[in-house]
Amino acid sequence: MDSPHLTALSDLPSVNSLLEDGRLEAVPHAVAVRAARAAVDKARTRLRSGEEVAADLVPRVLEFVHALRAPHLRRVINATGVVVHTNLGRAPLAPEVAARVAEVAGGYSNVEMELSSGRRGGRLDGVTDRLCRLSGAAAALAVNNNAAAVLLALQALADKGEVVISRGELVEIGGSFRVPAIISAGGAKMVEVGTTNRTRASDYAAAITPNTRVLLRVHPSNFRQEGFTERASRQELAALARKAGIPLVEDLGSGLMGGRLSVAGTGSDGGEDPVDEVIAAGVDVVCFSGDKLLGGPQAGLIVGGSQWVDMMRVHPLYRALRLDKVMLTALEATLRMIDEGRGAEIPTRSMLERTPEECGLAAKRLAQKMSALDGVEVSVEEDVGWTGGGALPGLALPSAVVALRGCNPEALARVLRGGTPSVVGRVARDAFLVDPRTLLVGEDELVVDRLQSALAAVAVGG
Ligand SMILES: *Cc1c(COP(=O)(O)O)cnc(C)c1O
Repeated sequence: MDSPHLTALSDLPSVNSLLEDGRLEAVPHAVAVRAARAAVDKARTRLRSGEEVAADLVPRVLEFVHALRAPHLRRVINATGVVVHTNLGRAPLAPEVAARVAEVAGGYSNVEMELSSGRRGGRLDGVTDRLCRLSGAAAALAVNNNAAAVLLALQALADKGEVVISRGELVEIGGSFRVPAIISAGGAKMVEVGTTNRTRASDYAAAITPNTRVLLRVHPSNFRQEGFTERASRQELAALARKAGIPLVEDLGSGLMGGRLSVAGTGSDGGEDPVDEVIAAGVDVVCFSGDKLLGGPQAGLIVGGSQWVDMMRVHPLYRALRLDKVMLTALEATLRMIDEGRGAEIPTRSMLERTPEECGLAAKRLAQKMSALDGVEVSVEEDVGWTGGGALPGLALPSAVVALRGCNPEALARVLRGGTPSVVGRVARDAFLVDPRTLLVGEDELVVDRLQSALAAVAVGG
């Protein structure tokens, strides 16, 4: 039938006849079949409800093909100004790190072969040497994430014994990481000492018994105490642990290496102690994340005394938590940058250390590129960014944003999120805000392009 519309169910093309159409030639057969079935089903439903259906179903099939093939996990432009954005994948890898990953992921690698001898080699060699040099610790280990690192430390070092921890550090980090649950997961017994706001070294000392296996210190992460507070120092706890012959383990959370942060415009270093200082203070085992302040891949890093780290390496749980070659490559390449004194080039760190003047200039440049956009007023405004990811809680980063007004900001945000590439910004003060702090090289232009089409879509949608 030549009619541009179908009128009866009997006019519906068969799936097989659709599959023969040349426009579907490049589509993998399994996808084409699924898409053709979906298109015919949808057309049938529409016909039954008396709606019009175009006779040529192939464009509809191609829409289903597109939806079926679109990856769920894809690139997002982070215009929120939140640097370690948990929902957006925390740390973007440095370009040279991403390039190393692509090189190793697509081929074989010497992950467990010593190339000079052809014999079996240690899979962590490229990582542990650098971790030891950067932290000053004698031994190191890496697992899938920091939650895994803490779990492994407690299983291997505390077993079914007692773990002493301050009541002020029994925190929930987000998701399902709750310190009491992590301690009991391995079968250890939690012994709480002190009070929520004040815990002294003498509280720990009084709780140590022959069954005590670990003194645990935990970074409160996204939680901050102010006022009448007191916390035992690392030196005091390390001395107690040494006397008892047990390790002092610290969950440092973010973990910073390559020097203190300089959070520009705040005169602050964020209060975040670098891993080497924690080791120098006498902590026996330090656990921290690879993808928070360190700016590398998701990983849990462990540094400390050989005696303790060896117990973790030979524990059966380590085998279940070890890193694969792709993450190992990313981790080694990130640590290399820090080890070579180029840590400031890592995106996470450079974003955090950007000065308010630099943020202002970036916002002005971006606003200029947006000046030709129709249907919105563009202005540069002072604002604050955040670290996110439970790092540097409460520390606002003085920032400048580009504010777009004159259209429905919620609608604009929705259209921008749904497009390709997706752009995620903030809605506040009746405006859609773009914070250039978290835009990577080349993303300015992409944001302007996406805004142009999104603004047109919002205008049409009313
Ligand atoms: C983030 C964090 C964790 C969990 O680390 P992941 O790498 O997300 O597994 C554990 N403890 C502290 C203190 C944290 O800040």
